[in-house]
Amino acid sequence: MQQPTQGPDAPSSSPRYQQPRRGWGNPAPLAPPPPSLDHFPPLGKENPEGKQRSPHSVPSYQRADQPHGQQPHRPKAGPLASNNNPIAPRRFDRRPPRLPVAHYEQFFVEQAANLEKVAKSLLEEISPPDEETVAKNELLHLLQGICRKLVPTAVLIPFGSLVTGFSTASSDIDCVFVAGPLNDPATPEVSDDLPALLERSLQEEDFDAQLLTRTRVPIIKMKQRAAPGIGEIQCDIGFKNFLAIHNTQLLLCYSKCDVRVKQIVLFVKWWAKNRHINSPYRGTLSSYGYVLMILHYLINIVQPPVLPNLQLQPIPQGTADSEIHYKEGGSEYNIWFAKDITNIGPSPNTSSAGELLRGFFDYYSYKFAWGQSVISIRTQGGLLTKQDKDWCMAKSRPANTSDGAETWEVKDRYLFALEDPFETVHNVGRTCNGPGVRRIRDELRRAMDLIKFRGDGGQRLERFLCEEAPPERPFVKKEDREPKDPNASMSPGAENENAAEEAANSGAAAGGKAAEDLVLDTLDAVKELSLNS
Ligand code: ATP
Ligand code: MG
Repeated sequence: MQQPTQGPDAPSSSPRYQQPRRGWGNPAPLAPPPPSLDHFPPLGKENPEGKQRSPHSVPSYQRADQPHGQQPHRPKAGPLASNNNPIAPRRFDRRPPRLPVAHYEQFFVEQAANLEKVAKSLLEEISPPDEETVAKNELLHLLQGICRKLVPTAVLIPFGSLVTGFSTASSDIDCVFVAGPLNDPATPEVSDDLPALLERSLQEEDFDAQLLTRTRVPIIKMKQRAAPGIGEIQCDIGFKNFLAIHNTQLLLCYSKCDVRVKQIVLFVKWWAKNRHINSPYRGTLSSYGYVLMILHYLINIVQPPVLPNLQLQPIPQGTADSEIHYKEGGSEYNIWFAKDITNIGPSPNTSSAGELLRGFFDYYSYKFAWGQSVISIRTQGGLLTKQDKDWCMAKSRPANTSDGAETWEVKDRYLFALEDPFETVHNVGRTCNGPGVRRIRDELRRAMDLIKFRGDGGQRLERFLCEEAPPERPFVKKEDREPKDPNASMSPGAENENAAEEAANSGAAAGGKAAEDLVLDTLDAVKELSLNS
């Protein structure tokens, strides 16, 4: 009798499951576990072409020469958990108490109901209070006024969670500076010196503002101090990131397609923030990345699908070209997606948000092939392979600093591959380093284990699932640092980034939001240092 060792039906490593006693009326033997898809070699360690794997490198439970009937052995700290694989999840030592196997199915249903309860109550708890939304809109107005002193026709277009409705009390304001109406061909280009001028204007208005020039697009990060009843408000002003406006609209449309989308997104964002895996500056994933993961699950994985693929809907005749093609920085993007969702009927999937959440954690804990797959929500099926996209090795590109000197741009990582729906050469998961991906996977498995086995009702489930993780430990490993030689796929600036990450990691021991701020400050300071040197 073989038991699955992976997947949703995997019971546990408890001997009770592995060696069922006689007389339990066990069904026919289950198929052996599918070969793990996770053996994608870690970055920089790909097998040279043609080189055969040693048979010993194949985990024992995958070998074809297993004696028939022998229970495949799942190693305690198997190859997935080996230190050589930067994205392999760790196994948890402390497991929550389990229910007797007879209650297993019923328990799943109960836990989905609990999860549903938690997700619904969270909606109220973490949605920003009305005063905060008003304050954010007022701040946006005020900032636009400051921008107009520099460029009289300037507009600040909001994007991100303020527009999609996925914002939580701590969400920042994301906006992009445009020198005039977006679709007006007469709108002038933003001059190169404008970001620095705006930074100075904001500082003169007593805002805490800082221009980051080594980011993918120039960004001013600024804060408005806390006021009575309203916490500090953070705002990012971008300059050349118009695609963000389009992807925000896409997310908004998906959210309008089904009410469960917002419930699931808010729950996952809350969980990711509390578990400290929502810090792109610290090697994990942005909120945007988590939303794409959820959309992939709801469009392509759950059956029947909860969401249609809006990017694959036929283009109605007479659609303006500006709705289909968009040019920016010498590249053209296909930005088509169906915005009129009135013709798209309700989903045949009637699962509760709780059941869908359980499925989401299950999929990313045990089924998604992190080592091989690329999430691509624009694609039929939603998955590509890293080989398809040539996203197998980290890359660095030559670039220029703001003063024109030649340098290397921070490398792209593909440990977690999450294709942007419009800018398909961009990996939204590039912010994830090895330890970051490992932590995300650990947390997903921790969540799934809690959902599976915690038999103590909704309240405690909520507490254990989303309780704030302990302060982050330093996690920049030696092998994750870039090599010193630029020819060996390196980026000189990246060394400073690592220094920043390290400084940030030690600073983070302070824990909480303050640590996060320190992380950003340190990272930015070192980035700027590297610019000046
Ligand atoms: P939060 O409430 O946490 O701020 P959010 O919904 O605003 O969440 P963000 O991660 O702040 O999500 O992203 C806002 C926008 O920034 C996204 O709509 C996207 O356009 C852009 N963005 C964020 N992260 C990335 C990324 N890694 N790559 C490309 N674009 C990104
Ligand atoms: Mg945001």
